[in-house]
Amino acid sequence: MERILQIPFSLNLEEAKSKLRAVDWQQIQNLLEVANPLIYAQAVYEVSYIYEKLEDAVIIDGVCFNSQVLRKNLENVGRVFPYVVTIGAGLEQRVGECKDLLEQYYLDQIGNIALTKARKHLEEHLCATFAIDRLSYMSPGSLQDWPIEEQKPLFSVLKGAEELIGVRLNENLIMIPRKSVSGIFFPTDVTFLSCQLCQREKCEGRKAPYNEALARQYKLQG
Ligand code: SF4
Repeated sequence: MERILQIPFSLNLEEAKSKLRAVDWQQIQNLLEVANPLIYAQAVYEVSYIYEKLEDAVIIDGVCFNSQVLRKNLENVGRVFPYVVTIGAGLEQRVGECKDLLEQYYLDQIGNIALTKARKHLEEHLCATFAIDRLSYMSPGSLQDWPIEEQKPLFSVLKGAEELIGVRLNENLIMIPRKSVSGIFFPTDVTFLSCQLCQREKCEGRKAPYNEALARQYKLQG
């Protein structure tokens, strides 16, 4: 398994302004100064091969993943990159100690932005290392079609994530530290985003609108 230690990270006010809704930007600047030193971003990934493609499942490194969406996304793919990215527990602990609800919210949002940036760093690293033009990813739990239970097979491919970067699954299949993301990167011609197939109405993390026609192509709609 490959590990990337100390993903370079620093969030400045201009970046925060493009992602956060706030009134008092001096408060955000102060919180960035609190948050930046508490963020320690790391990643592990595996270079994995598809052993077999079943009707609604795919066998990766001998482990079965059940998802018709993942199966369709991997139709023309032979090599994938299961991954875990974390920003560590430091910011999460600070959020837990914080008494001010608004501050708590902003610090948590800063953590989410940091995690997204760290995953982007991994994506760029994979593209550069393996000469891939474009990658997309899917994460267990983001769609009904690929539920959170699929964290188990994912972590069985990523054995060693706890030892290498300190990320483990708890009994509810939630990653600890919580500010961690996991999934499978795969090469694509057209960017795929799970949000395009997700009908959840209120979601601050939405990256693309729901696409009914695409959902039909994935046989998730009538
Ligand atoms: S809309 Fe929200 S819940 Fe749905 S896939 Fe996107 S980020 Fe996840």
